[in-house]
Amino acid sequence: MRKNLLRAIPKVDELIANEQVQELLEFVPRNLVLEVIREALSELRQLLVSVEEDALPESLDLSALIKTISEEVDKRNGYHLKRVINATGVVIHTNLGRSLLAPSIAQHLTEVSCYYSTLEYDLETGKRGTRYSHVESLLCELTGAEAALVVNNNAAAVMLVLSTLCAGKEVVVSRGQLVEIGGAFRVPDVMRASGAELIEVGTTNKTHLRDYAAAIGERTAAVLKVHTSNYRILGFTSEVEMEALSGLCHEKNIPLIEDLGSGSLIDFSQFGLMKEPTVIESMSAGADVVTFSGDKMLGGPQAGIILGRKNWIDAMKKNQLTRALRVDKMTLCALEATLKLYRDPEAVRREIPTVRMLTEQQADILPRATELQMQIEALGTAYEAALYETASEVGGGSLPLEKLPTWAVSVKHAEQSTQRLTEALRARRLPIVARVTEDRLIFDLRTVQVGEAEEIVRALRELM
Ligand SMILES: *Cc1c(COP(=O)(O)O)cnc(C)c1O
Repeated sequence: MRKNLLRAIPKVDELIANEQVQELLEFVPRNLVLEVIREALSELRQLLVSVEEDALPESLDLSALIKTISEEVDKRNGYHLKRVINATGVVIHTNLGRSLLAPSIAQHLTEVSCYYSTLEYDLETGKRGTRYSHVESLLCELTGAEAALVVNNNAAAVMLVLSTLCAGKEVVVSRGQLVEIGGAFRVPDVMRASGAELIEVGTTNKTHLRDYAAAIGERTAAVLKVHTSNYRILGFTSEVEMEALSGLCHEKNIPLIEDLGSGSLIDFSQFGLMKEPTVIESMSAGADVVTFSGDKMLGGPQAGIILGRKNWIDAMKKNQLTRALRVDKMTLCALEATLKLYRDPEAVRREIPTVRMLTEQQADILPRATELQMQIEALGTAYEAALYETASEVGGGSLPLEKLPTWAVSVKHAEQSTQRLTEALRARRLPIVARVTEDRLIFDLRTVQVGEAEEIVRALRELM
């Protein structure tokens, strides 16, 4: 029996000649198909050799073997970095790519990436230009800053600022602001890597102006204020006001550096979110150098934006580190195009997905949730679907206490476990990532993009 089955295992050549495998070969490199076939055959042989005599099948199922091969080829041939549907309600989802770029900039992005461009070329003089010129004047126009520089991300921005202005000297930071951001950005470690020496002042919950004043001495290069992005110290607390801190720094003739984390060019409190100083407010309150991320609340590509006085930014441009932290043309292109939208306050909310999702009112989400709930109900008795009132999150370590009231649809399958359902949704060609609460799937419509609710219904129908 075992011998017959082993003898019946098809040869690689026979499988290659199979009609379905031939179809695969039209789209997939031959080497990849061959590799998968060899592995599948060796696994099958292994299985037939090791399984108990009475568990052996009566005959080999060739079509099942081909199906396995074809699924595995599909899986390996697909993109590893690919689109997903985010139904978690976390808007700036760092694991799912943080901010979505505005669809209106897609064509420009394609053109600049797939054709030659003015990356480091000055069309007026016909000579070499600099890659940083594309966004610097726009950033200055939008924020009133004297000069600007863009690097790989905000972590790089903080590192570059400290390395340029503070290496070999001391930097004063409040103990309440020694932040760790997801992905191992820790203020003390960044400080050490930049060559600056961290001088901690105050306590976890309270730091006074006199604490800063006492710590500033001959070797002090700057005071650094770090936005406590992803946590809050509540209760008996006090922080020194920016105005007072900046007064002290200027008296002592040292710059006040502020790591804003998210950094935003618009005031989100007008849409009901918590009040956070905008980049412009932070600078007018006295920050001499500010840094923030491009892909958090700004809603652009991953980048670290540095604004400040021209002499300091010039010094940063000359730092060798800048070459190592430099941004590529796709980032610059996406950043310029995103920033351009900020010239028109209407365009910001209409076109920048992160801003749109963060400012959308709960009542405007309800119709989409209702529609999805009805569509899932219409699939029949396999699912139980209900409207579910809950809260979305800003994400990206920004506004950790902010709960954005939202509408979701909660779904349970009559027989399949919720766990199995979430796995199946993730395993699709267009994966769907949802939240699970009390053994029910939760689809938060705030982060579900146009056309994606239909895809959720399609997926649930396939899994019935
Ligand atoms: C997010 C954040 C960072 C890191 O920014 P990246 O752009 O992710 O490198 C640094 N500091 C603060 C305060 C942050 O919130």
